[in-house]
Amino acid sequence: MKFIFVLIYMKFRRPKGTKDILPADIYKWHFVENTIGEVMQIYDYSEIRTPTFEFTELFIRGVGKETDIVGKEMYTFTDKSGESVTLRPEGTAPVMRAYLENSLYNEKSLHRLYYIANMFRYEKPQSGRYREHTQFGAEIIGSESIYTDVELILLARDIYQRCGIDNFKLKINSIGKAEDRKRYCAVLKEYLGKYVNDLSEDSKRRIEKNPMRILDSKDPGDIKITQECPKILDYISDESRNRFESLCAMLRENNIDHDIDFRLVRGLDYYTDTTFEFVSDLLGAQNAIGGGGRYDLLAEQLGGKTTPSVGFASGLERLISVAEKNGFKFSANKPPFIYLVALGDEAVNKAFLLMQDLRNSQISSTMDFNGKSMKSQLRHANKLNVNYVFIIGDEELSKERGILKNMNDSTQCEIEFAKLKDHLLSENKKSKSSSQGI
Ligand code: AMP
Repeated sequence: MKFIFVLIYMKFRRPKGTKDILPADIYKWHFVENTIGEVMQIYDYSEIRTPTFEFTELFIRGVGKETDIVGKEMYTFTDKSGESVTLRPEGTAPVMRAYLENSLYNEKSLHRLYYIANMFRYEKPQSGRYREHTQFGAEIIGSESIYTDVELILLARDIYQRCGIDNFKLKINSIGKAEDRKRYCAVLKEYLGKYVNDLSEDSKRRIEKNPMRILDSKDPGDIKITQECPKILDYISDESRNRFESLCAMLRENNIDHDIDFRLVRGLDYYTDTTFEFVSDLLGAQNAIGGGGRYDLLAEQLGGKTTPSVGFASGLERLISVAEKNGFKFSANKPPFIYLVALGDEAVNKAFLLMQDLRNSQISSTMDFNGKSMKSQLRHANKLNVNYVFIIGDEELSKERGILKNMNDSTQCEIEFAKLKDHLLSENKKSKSSSQGI
């Protein structure tokens, strides 16, 4: 019977490209999520939460038909009312949709927003590339000031550093305005046309519709061909070039090392001027920890008025992976303060009542319900690293007193059931500065 159960059970596996974050690892996620929240608060960014799915048209309009995301990677389905909906593949278009739909522009002219959300992309899974992953992202909506570009880069840098990551590289580029790109694409197409037979199949397909994407192809042949191709920085307007030069100067002023990378065109159509990416050598092929840029055209593309904006997003899986490779020690979640060890039905019942009373007073408490031996319960309490255990057997029941053992110094004493809570509260007050607390 057990064998059949195991067989049936084993049939259910998680879908390819997804992951379970187990209790043994969740503290890393909590640490990173809390760090993001703290830094966002310091920088005055407000959290925004948008739906997990949106109408498909939002991404077609907001991200662009020719992008890999829209062309190949979206989880799109028709719902029961015949509407085409898509699981969110990226955060910026939904945030901008929410900004416009809820007329946030009426509240103030500049919004600093952030999110932590799961993204869904039907990509070929590999190390660091999932079909469902989590991103945190920040957006400054409603300003074309160059300070917004710099602020976002500093914000990302601060979050990475608090997670023990300072060995990243920042790559930046400018892709100018739409008209600059039109001009540049024509020149690039002409150049690439000379090598069309040597390009990869993917790049051959892109040459007409999205030649700039060929610049970030990973194919060695494509890389060789594009090494000497015309560079976009030579084709952007004076205004965009001046802006880019000021950005580089401000980064230097703020001690942010950066490399100019002509290949950094980003996959999304709505970018204008600044693009940037944080990469780490510790990540292998999928080396981007985060990236972003300006998207002054997005609001208009979604039917709103022109709203200059800049944003970036970063994958939590990759951030945690780089932090671990750097040997960063995430602070662990607090263990329960006390473990109630009970032997026998009546003792279990008493322990359960006491435990709920402690929990009602915000004292984190736990116990076993599976009739384990005293030795095994004590072993478990030890493994959990609790501060105290409280032992109740038949003898203790009859005396209405249990044995309270301090797991830090191994001292123990008898405590009346009725006095346990007050005793723990006062012990905790005494040791608050040095111990793990309640
Ligand atoms: P993108 O919107 O593609 O620039 O993604 C922003 C960040 O999310 C990247 O820099 C990665 O850190 C992360 N990311 C993107 N796609 C994936 C994926 N499929 N799996 C894990 N992380 C991803």
